[in-house]
Amino acid sequence: MRWLRACAVLGLLAAPACAASNDPPLLINGTVVAPDRVIPNGWVAIRDGKILSISDTKPVLPTARTLTTRDIIFPGFVDLHNHPLYGVFPRWKPPKVYPNRYEWRADAGYWQAIQTPELKLVTTHFCDMDAYVELKALAGGTTSLLGIYRPADTAVISPCVSGLVRNLDWASGFHGTGMGQERAGNILGVRPSDLKLSEETLARIKTGPMDLIAVHLGEGQRNDADSRAEFARLKDLDLLTPNTAVIHGVALSESDFREIKNAGAAFIWSPRSNFELYGETADIAAAIRQKVTMALAPDWSPTGSTNMLAEIGYAKSVIDRQFKGLISPQQLFEMATLVPARIAHIDDKVSSLKPGLYADLFLLRGDTAKPFDALAGAAPQDVTLTLVNGVPIYGSRDYLDALGAAPEAVTMCNQAKAINTQAMPGKFADIIARLTLALAGEKLTLAGLAECR
Ligand SMILES: [Zn+2]
Repeated sequence: MRWLRACAVLGLLAAPACAASNDPPLLINGTVVAPDRVIPNGWVAIRDGKILSISDTKPVLPTARTLTTRDIIFPGFVDLHNHPLYGVFPRWKPPKVYPNRYEWRADAGYWQAIQTPELKLVTTHFCDMDAYVELKALAGGTTSLLGIYRPADTAVISPCVSGLVRNLDWASGFHGTGMGQERAGNILGVRPSDLKLSEETLARIKTGPMDLIAVHLGEGQRNDADSRAEFARLKDLDLLTPNTAVIHGVALSESDFREIKNAGAAFIWSPRSNFELYGETADIAAAIRQKVTMALAPDWSPTGSTNMLAEIGYAKSVIDRQFKGLISPQQLFEMATLVPARIAHIDDKVSSLKPGLYADLFLLRGDTAKPFDALAGAAPQDVTLTLVNGVPIYGSRDYLDALGAAPEAVTMCNQAKAINTQAMPGKFADIIARLTLALAGEKLTLAGLAECR
């Protein structure tokens, strides 16, 4: 793989921008979930990291590597609400429901279980944590991700963040191989103490173009005064803009959602973390009545879902239980792909299987006659292959072998899977060993790659 050697010379081995240039084209066969139709036994052709064609019949590309499957081929997920570095920690079981996030973030039990060891490990094991949690995302079909943060004691983020998934706030690969060119960012919240944490982001809003500002807002119970007051503060700060995405919004009223719609802003729903921390979630029925653009994302592993695939499954259970028929499995799929890509203004680059877009996609084993139901009911081990920029990174051993990768074995929920070592920053077993040791020093165990059924 010549591109890999070239990228290695540049020190960008796992960077999404390191396209599979000069590699032979790649043909993948399966049930193709195209933007306007599902193609049974269809074909995706990939060349130089991009989708060359989508077709019913096998394209004529004599030099192409070919992967024939009975799987469903989806575009990769775009995750706009995550705190990925926390994905090395075991789940945190909140001892009670909280009125708002300020309360649990001040809880001594939370600090002991998560925050204190996190602050410590991120300064000593940032690159290992980054590789591990990005692999967790990829294993659930995520190919674009927002939310890796720079440790407070470092002036610049390590270049190791430039790898595996597209980091939309650091190294998406959309703006060259350098860092600091991105047009999306996170704001933890609108309280002065939270905004202080994001001065750099705020400066970028004022001095440079931003396509997306994702803001935690109204993260508390619906009758909580602190959470309810945040929407007014957002408006006072002139941060309710067409490039704003409101995260959580559990405390938002229907008139708040109307204002979000009228401002051209968007909303990101994270139901699992809402229920586990606050005992309720946002009024998505009101958001839908107000025709608010709404994406889905998992928040983080400790109280949310492991990744996008798991959050889709959780959202489906919430809809079945509480919002009967309000959102279909196909709409959940769109809320995890095209909708967040539109919110981040990257739908001309990723999130659909159509020619000209980057080849960020994943394969899923399931009922090909009902691809969206298969997606909503999928188990972690059902993902059989994930590619970013046309480069296979995670999947079934035989698929990686067929694609000429150099697989390293890994276990996903008792099933043998593999990782393409050529795309990884190091041996994955070594990364796991170092993290396991570091966490043991904090009397913690390394979180699994997924929650198994
Ligand atoms: Zn969050």
